[in-house]
Amino acid sequence: MNKEQIFQTDKEYYMPVFARYQIVLSHGEGPYVYDIDGKKYIDFLAGIAVNVLGHAHPALTAAVAQQAGKLIHCSNLYYTEEQAKLAKSLAELSGLDKVFLANSGAEANEGAIKLARKYGKTVSADKYEIITAEHGFHGRTMATLTATAQPKYQQGYEPLPGGFKYVPYNDINALTEQVSEKTCAVILEPIQGEGGVNTPDDNYIDQVRALCDKYGALLIFDEIQTGIGRTGKMFAYQHSNTKPDIVTLAKGLGGGVPIGAFIASNKVAQAFAPGDHGSTFGGNPLACAAANAVLGVIAEQNLLQNVETVAKYMLDELTKLQNKYPQIISQVRGKGLMLGVKLTKPGRDIVNACMEQGAIINCTAGDVLRFVPPLNITKAHVDEVITILDKVMAIA
Ligand SMILES: *Cc1c(COP(=O)(O)O)cnc(C)c1O
Repeated sequence: MNKEQIFQTDKEYYMPVFARYQIVLSHGEGPYVYDIDGKKYIDFLAGIAVNVLGHAHPALTAAVAQQAGKLIHCSNLYYTEEQAKLAKSLAELSGLDKVFLANSGAEANEGAIKLARKYGKTVSADKYEIITAEHGFHGRTMATLTATAQPKYQQGYEPLPGGFKYVPYNDINALTEQVSEKTCAVILEPIQGEGGVNTPDDNYIDQVRALCDKYGALLIFDEIQTGIGRTGKMFAYQHSNTKPDIVTLAKGLGGGVPIGAFIASNKVAQAFAPGDHGSTFGGNPLACAAANAVLGVIAEQNLLQNVETVAKYMLDELTKLQNKYPQIISQVRGKGLMLGVKLTKPGRDIVNACMEQGAIINCTAGDVLRFVPPLNITKAHVDEVITILDKVMAIA
């Protein structure tokens, strides 16, 4: 099929839920992707924070190919070495104890919500309330879209599951007012991704932890976007001394192969007994082999250090752009390779112009350019994108 035929076929046969950009991607290599006409793009969206090793990474490709030739799936009625190995790695890396593997971010959060509810019941029948933050994003299943305190994701799907409350993000007083003995969990992103790369004050997360401890509420970090090295630590909460009771992962974990996870302390995980939760595909050996390869490469190539170095450079370069175009850029924010550029106007035109110039970037929350590139990029790759942004902003 040519491009026009693909657009037409999609229009005729795919559910009309995506506002897609008008390109058809075909293959990639490292931080580059190519469309079906052979045009090359530098990819600083990376499948929305998914392709942490870039595209077609040899170690990931080999791990997936080898595992596919051995055993793709076998049901959780049986053990596999790949799954056991991944569970051990995730427990050790997070400082938590017990892992459950799912297939996506929404499923990871859905499972974490179920576990929190079960745990709450072991304390009291009334301990079921879940508090989340405005402008957060937690997924699109019924429970996770209810946890997502943004009307645009909820409208039309009522009645929503009960027991959810919302507070403004980065506002400890608002949370103090809402939290009570009925609170079973507070769910937060350490940095809000979809909501606009919203980065809280330094002490907010520690204050939330203290409040949760006071009321016996669980603290759940949704690290689906911030996890797996994105901010320069394996988990964003590792920038401080605060540890959650449950953390959820997905996006970067499989380097592009669908996988999600939630990890809990022993105290919380013991609320689950055989039969309480499950998944047909979750934790299958193919996805686990991919995740094991991703974690292996991050460790062997010291990618957390690379994130620190390249992110500092990119932040400086974006700040220079802000100084050059103060009428377009009002703020540069974020941590590690999760950077946001707040614009003074909607960002879609800039994203389209960058695409035209050969750079794939993203705009979220309407007016925030979001950069979530592969973790193994170099300063030279940053320069490529900055040059294109500079060119685009000069005429914007
Ligand atoms: C992407 C995302 C999700 C949802 O993940 P899916 O795999 O799309 O279900 C949940 N929480 C956060 C923070 C995310 O960025």
